[in-house]
Amino acid sequence: MENIFIIDPLSFAQNKRIRHGKIAGDKLDRLRELIDSDEGFAYVIEGDTDKLARPTLRLQIKGKIAVQCQRCLDKLNHEVDIDTLLILARNARELELYDADNTIDAVLALHELDMGALIEDEIILSLPISPRHQEGGCNKDIQSILKREHKESPFSSLVSLKQTH
Ligand SMILES: [Zn+2]
Repeated sequence: MENIFIIDPLSFAQNKRIRHGKIAGDKLDRLRELIDSDEGFAYVIEGDTDKLARPTLRLQIKGKIAVQCQRCLDKLNHEVDIDTLLILARNARELELYDADNTIDAVLALHELDMGALIEDEIILSLPISPRHQEGGCNKDIQSILKREHKESPFSSLVSLKQTH
């Protein structure tokens, strides 16, 4: 079966090719459960070389994903809007050099690079570590349950300890 997302990244970059389209959410195995719209993700992949003549892939991805609010634990819609430049490492040594430089993102230029997996990696990396609704935007029902659970303050037991002396 032909996979439309497999490219040869070096020739893609050298020929300054561009590919754009949409990837359906159910094609992204690791994210499938977080995606509840049929919109999918719009992407643009652009091959080029940078001013140091290094082959690059510019990746733009837009879409929506549901994450869990860390305050009320309810669903929170997160807007994915990625624009990243990846430098193509031609071998493991180059990749090691690039990885040591925090200012650049690099990827090993496999002969057949699965852009679907790469798009998924970038989306996962872009997700917020501790997402929260905006102030006042949390689900009140869930919040009040959490508050009730926290009512028993750890200090109250300290107070009762003191009183026994
Ligand atoms: Zn919330």
